[in-house]
Amino acid sequence: MKDVSESDLTNNIPLVALKEGESTKPVTVAGVEFGGNDFAIIAGPCTVESEEQIVEIAGAVKQRGAKMLRGGAFKPLSFPYRSDSFFELGEVGLEYLNVARKTHNIPVVTELMDIKYLDKLCENADMIQIGSRNMQNFSLLAEVGGSGFPVLLKRHFGCSLRDWLGAAEYLVHYGCKGVVLCERGITAPHTHVVTSRFIVDLQVVPAVKELSHLPIIVDPSHSTFRRNFVPHVALGACGVGADGIIIDVHPTPEKAAVDPLNALTYDAFETLVGKLNNVKKVI
Ligand code: PEP
Ligand code: MN
Repeated sequence: MKDVSESDLTNNIPLVALKEGESTKPVTVAGVEFGGNDFAIIAGPCTVESEEQIVEIAGAVKQRGAKMLRGGAFKPLSFPYRSDSFFELGEVGLEYLNVARKTHNIPVVTELMDIKYLDKLCENADMIQIGSRNMQNFSLLAEVGGSGFPVLLKRHFGCSLRDWLGAAEYLVHYGCKGVVLCERGITAPHTHVVTSRFIVDLQVVPAVKELSHLPIIVDPSHSTFRRNFVPHVALGACGVGADGIIIDVHPTPEKAAVDPLNALTYDAFETLVGKLNNVKKVI
């Protein structure tokens, strides 16, 4: 694994590299600013479970301080089997996200795994999430970049900052108008408890600020994979200068169709937002 070199900054990632005298360039997506003065909070369920569910959650998280709604219609699930209690909705999930978005006037970010759904996603959401597992799917990055649509680019759990900025460079090179990076934990041999899958690389936030003008947010949910850890890591992310967080929130977390271990309740989310506001003030 190589560090980002001077030659990389000039030759390999000139579009995302920080130039002298520059700092983070804010990216605005449907009125939500990443990398400006605000700490952008994205919240919602792991997976869209029904129209009723996503509409309700959209209202609940907005009321508690979220500026953008998350929710997967397409999920990169580790195994191929689905059941009535473990599922993704696919295309119709995008339509439900759009209903929630319009009902509560809140922008939506959602994952794209297959390029054939690009147009449909762009009609129903405001930002494309490229998930961790597709960070280096270069043909997907090229096509998504070509759409010009804003992208939330999650870091692959095995990739260096150099690889990650390289993936961001693909998006911008092919035409993406707004890339926001998202740290979501990296693989490490020790994770404190068996259910905690990844280690959050918080020091990558200041590293990105030194090397790139792209805004960076943190996902404390898919990294820690443990709801008790989520608020601590979210506050840490704010403390190290991240531009926001994306977080799983569910009315009954233990009953969530996907990722029941990491989602916060509405109450826990509300408490966290209050603390984040305090940390932000101090910073
Ligand atoms: C998600 O945000 O729902 C998700 C699957 O994230 P990741 O790609 O980070 O695992
Ligand atoms: Mn999830």
